[in-house]
Amino acid sequence: MAAGEPWRVSLHGGHSGEFCDHAESTLREMIAAAADAGYCTFGVTEHAPRTEEFLYAEERVLGWNAAYLQKLFNAYVSEVNRLEQEYRGRLQVLRGFEMEVVPQNSYKTWMSELRSMRLPNGDAAFDYAVGSVHFVGGHQLDGKQDAFEGAIDFAGSLEALAVMYYDQVAEIAEVLKPEVIGHFDLIKKNIIRGGLDVSVLSSSLVRQAASRALNAVQQAGSILDFNLAGWRKNLGEPYPSAHLLREADSLGIGFCFGDDSHRPTEVGAGLEQGRTFLLENGIRTVTTLTKQLDGNLKREILPL
Ligand SMILES: [Zn+2]
Ligand SMILES: [Zn+2]
Repeated sequence: MAAGEPWRVSLHGGHSGEFCDHAESTLREMIAAAADAGYCTFGVTEHAPRTEEFLYAEERVLGWNAAYLQKLFNAYVSEVNRLEQEYRGRLQVLRGFEMEVVPQNSYKTWMSELRSMRLPNGDAAFDYAVGSVHFVGGHQLDGKQDAFEGAIDFAGSLEALAVMYYDQVAEIAEVLKPEVIGHFDLIKKNIIRGGLDVSVLSSSLVRQAASRALNAVQQAGSILDFNLAGWRKNLGEPYPSAHLLREADSLGIGFCFGDDSHRPTEVGAGLEQGRTFLLENGIRTVTTLTKQLDGNLKREILPL
């Protein structure tokens, strides 16, 4: 495949070691890698800051605190805006971030405030945001297995946790109406990697909860992140799984690629495999966001 085809879009990724403890390299290097990978549009979605109690253990080891996360995020805003301008005409860089659902009682206000951040000149700091659920009841779902076990204990069972997870996805879609919903079935990650009972994911309660969440995504008008990282993380499939992909498609929900890159080697990784997977599941288009002359985003549906 030649580079530069319009469907070469990622709306979730571009995390860099400059602003995130579990990524590598600078944002400049990530964006250069995106141009090299033949992307037409590269959405950069660094993680939103978190409060003290939701710091990752690895961040604490580094001596980071909540104020430092906020400082990094502010620096990210400046840099992504600088690079977006620099790359105009070569690569459409979209300025985004990945919203969180913590703290439970204040994330709605906090994420909305971040979403409407302004640059010193008064312009909007961001083009869009990805809504992602990485926590249930304050317990991290996609980190170390012991944290995941803590989440199961909190929920009472693995099945209850999966239901709570999808309820949380429905809530972030309803409340924040993000342009993109990240890695829709992230809950499967530590179930598969931890050798836990994957049949829970197809129990009727969990499937009903996933259906409710998909309906919320459809109502919110969000695009689903067709997240390529599942392959990279040895899950044997992307996010979401084929049955959820087809269910979402039947509801008229659009998909976009997300490489969820955290280092230059991950930029564009799995894109061809993802395209084939979509086509094999009867999905012949991707839905993307394109910046218009007035700076507003327009949804565009592009053939694969
Ligand atoms: Zn990350
Ligand atoms: Zn994420």
